[in-house]
Parts: sequence; structure tokens; C-alpha cells
Amino acid sequence: MTHKRFDNKVAIITGAASGIGAATARLMASEGAKVVLADISGDAANALAAALGPDAMAVTCDVSKEAEVGALIKAAADTHGRIDILFNNAGIGSFANTVELPPDQWEQVIAVDLHSVYYACHHAIPHMPRGSAIVNTASISGLGGDYRFAAYNAAKGAVINYTKALAVDHARDGIRVNALCPGLVETPITAGLNQMPGLPEEWHKRIPLGRGAQPEEMANVVAFLASDAASYMTGSIIVADGGTTAHTGQPE
Ligand code: NAD
Repeated sequence: MTHKRFDNKVAIITGAASGIGAATARLMASEGAKVVLADISGDAANALAAALGPDAMAVTCDVSKEAEVGALIKAAADTHGRIDILFNNAGIGSFANTVELPPDQWEQVIAVDLHSVYYACHHAIPHMPRGSAIVNTASISGLGGDYRFAAYNAAKGAVINYTKALAVDHARDGIRVNALCPGLVETPITAGLNQMPGLPEEWHKRIPLGRGAQPEEMANVVAFLASDAASYMTGSIIVADGGTTAHTGQPE
């Protein structure tokens, strides 16, 4: 039998029921991982786990709640005895500038996109053996400002620097930590924006490759970062954005 990249690896994936998380779950499961699918949409996570087979399990979890994340990590560790890969991927957007944005929405975005990463790492790292890997989904929105993305820009920027802090703190434990910064990816999170007249065309014009990514194109990067092929990479912020941030903004 041929060796698969994630044979016998235990991988927790948050936001696993949809988009980038689901594509990563499918890819890692197809390459031998025992996947633990965490999502606030428990039914969708359960359905995906059932489709992936007996080595997949689902846990309903709101990643913005510390107790729920603690229970997720405990369930994974109790079932499998260890955690080799933690993919902190669940996230939500915010579509308002600072004046328009109510405080409760600011707090919700920061909790789901940032606090969740701390909660998961806090609970999971003690169960992660040498050779383990953490991947955090940040965004190119963590590298600069977007119009009306204030809370999201703040949260994803913090995820980027927190990834570097985690990488430094846990390098000597043999745990690598890297972040993925996607550009536009065609998932339900961006489907609403695609409904706005003219916006998809305008957006695609600003992407040198001329299109949004498919979730599988992000899963390929995550799988690489989580695999032993990335053994000398930690604290790296990997941009996969079709050239968006390489462009100075000069009109064509
Ligand atoms: P998606 O909406 O398809 O998937 C997000 C998943 O997270 C959903 O299954 C949702 O139920 C889950 N989720 C939301 N809130 C949760 C919570 N509190 N607890 C647990 N699960 C929760 O979106 P996606 O595009 O696959 O997004 C995945 C990640 O990628 C997010 O962190 C997002 O910010 C980031 N991202 C997306 C894009 C893009 O263009 N799609 C670009 C850059 C970064």
C-alpha cells in the first residue's frame, strides 16, 4: 500500500462544515487523516463526517466559547490520544466601518476570528507531540485595510501576529505554526458579495489571475503547511491570493 501524507495523523479542523474547512477535511481524510470536524453548524459537520467514513467525527462547537472549544479538544484527545494537526479556520466577516459597527458585532467578530484561535491552541498544544503543526486561517484582510471590514481587518491582523508568537513560543516543543492568507475564495462567506450588482466583475479585475479561488486551492496550501514537507517552516505567513497583494493598484 502506498504511503499517504496524513496516515494516522489526527487533525482537528474548525469551520469544517463549509468552504475552505470542508475542502481541507476532504483532502486530509483522502490522504489518511483521522479528521475531527468542528463547526457551529452541527448538522452539516455530521453530514460531512458521515460522508468521509468511520475515521471522521464531528463535534458541534461554537469556537467563540472557551468552554465549547475545551470540550472539542477533550473529545478529540479522548478519542485519539493525541492531536497532530490543528487547523484554526472558522471565521465570520463584518461589513461596516467603525462608526456604523455596533459594539456587540465588533466583539462577535473578534471572538470568532481571534479569541477562538487562542482557545483552541491553549487547550490543544498540551496534547500535540513533537512534529505537530498548527495552521491558522488569517486573510489578506489582515495585511491591510479594506473598505467597511474594520473588525475583520483587526481580527485577521491579530491572527497574523499571534501566529508568529505561537511559532516562537512552541518551536522548541517541535510544534510548527503558520498562517494562510487567502484572497477572494468562492465560498458561502463571499456568496453574498457576489450578489451585489457589478461587484464580482470589479473584484475579479483587481485580481491579477482574474478570478476568485476555489476552496480546494486553499486546502492544497493548508495540507502542505500541515505536512512534513513544510518541516522548516514556522511563523510563516503564506499568501494565496491570485496576485492581489502583489499589485500596486496602478490601473491596467
Ligand atoms: P464558509 O462560510 O464557507 O465557512 C466558514 C465555516 O465556519 C462555516 O461552516 C460556519 O458554520 C463556521 N463557523 C462560523 N462561525 C462559527 C463559530 N462561531 N464556531 C464554529 N464554526 C463557525 O467560509 P470560508 O470562506 O470557508 O471561511 C473559512 C475561513 O477563511 C474564515 O476564517 C474566513 O475568514 C477565511 N477567509 C475566507 C476568504 C474568502 O474569500 N472566502 C478570504 C480570506 C479568508
